[in-house]
Amino acid sequence: MDKDLIAFFRDRFNTNDFIPLHIPNFNGNEKKYLENCIDSTYVSSVGPFVDKFELLMSKITQSKKTTAVVNGTAGLQVALRLVGVEEDTEVITQALTFVATANAIAYNNAYPVFLDVDIDTMGLSPKAVRSFLEEFGELREKVCYNKKTGRKIAACLPMHTFGFPVHLDELIKVCKEWGIPLVEDAAESLGSEYKGKSTGSFGDVGVFSFNGNKITTSGGGGAIVTNNFKLGERAKFLTTTAKEPHSYEYVHNELGYNYRMPNVNAALACAQLEQLSGFLESKRNLAKEYQAFFKEKGINFRTETSNTKANYWLMCIELENKKERDLFLKVTNKALVMTRPIWQLMNRLPMYKDCQKDEQVNALFLEERIVNIPSSVR
Ligand SMILES: *Cc1c(COP(=O)(O)O)cnc(C)c1O
Repeated sequence: MDKDLIAFFRDRFNTNDFIPLHIPNFNGNEKKYLENCIDSTYVSSVGPFVDKFELLMSKITQSKKTTAVVNGTAGLQVALRLVGVEEDTEVITQALTFVATANAIAYNNAYPVFLDVDIDTMGLSPKAVRSFLEEFGELREKVCYNKKTGRKIAACLPMHTFGFPVHLDELIKVCKEWGIPLVEDAAESLGSEYKGKSTGSFGDVGVFSFNGNKITTSGGGGAIVTNNFKLGERAKFLTTTAKEPHSYEYVHNELGYNYRMPNVNAALACAQLEQLSGFLESKRNLAKEYQAFFKEKGINFRTETSNTKANYWLMCIELENKKERDLFLKVTNKALVMTRPIWQLMNRLPMYKDCQKDEQVNALFLEERIVNIPSSVR
């Protein structure tokens, strides 16, 4: 089995060297656009590629307004503030996620509430949100409060794990019933769809990342997308130092951020977005090959759920138990095939250990079994 497995990875990626989990692929206009930045002197915080990137992202995600930002984490921080997250409020999110999701909440001096995920999507479970709210939620003048802490529940922040969309219809329904704004952490899911529509376009606000390990990269970068034009304008305003329009004076009336994406990064992002559909096709083909291979081995390769299209950003398998998982990690990494376990639950981290949480039955199950396997575009 082990030999078979390693040979399969080596054959797929056509190399006898180290196989990373996910590396960028620069075979488009990257160099040309970067040269254009240098030649034009537009390398910094404004420039034509920033504008082009924002238009491209609005088109791809079917959103009314995109704001380019310095990274996905900063994007999430601002997105939460846009919908009303502030000091001493709470945000419902999933325990099983990358740390940036929780950090973005903490940067707003708000408190995360860590709830369970669904087994099939590995993302925030609408059922878990519903049962949490039935036990702890209280509506006062259409605003939801947590009966246990007395704090306002200011947002719900699901994350589309590895590019598999969460059950959005059910989640939107429960958030509406409780008057809770929805922000999608779509950092991992550019190109993923739910019922034919782009992830990130369902919530009040959605956020993407263009970090080096994501499906498309700008070196570092992020995007805040929304169909609420007012929120979109405010996203741009807050991330560009909250400067009031004036022809020569510096007028700042509230706390803004310098979270702009530089034009050089936007140049890379534009070249990458032009190749997104090819990247998606390549990854989906690899997923098919993995699926067939692991089926024969009796191993559960994770595939998209019905009504969704996954971008297969990081592909993964579910092992029988922790022991099997550890063995798999050991064998593959020793053979220079990079594999990695899914994240630790957020409430295990020292800074989040006292946060409110539910029983997390599914998250605990997945935490011990899910392993990412090499997923780069070939
Ligand atoms: C990558 C990622 C982010 C943050 O993106 P950066 O651009 O690296 O700041 C946020 N949330 C999730 C789930 C991610 O995977």
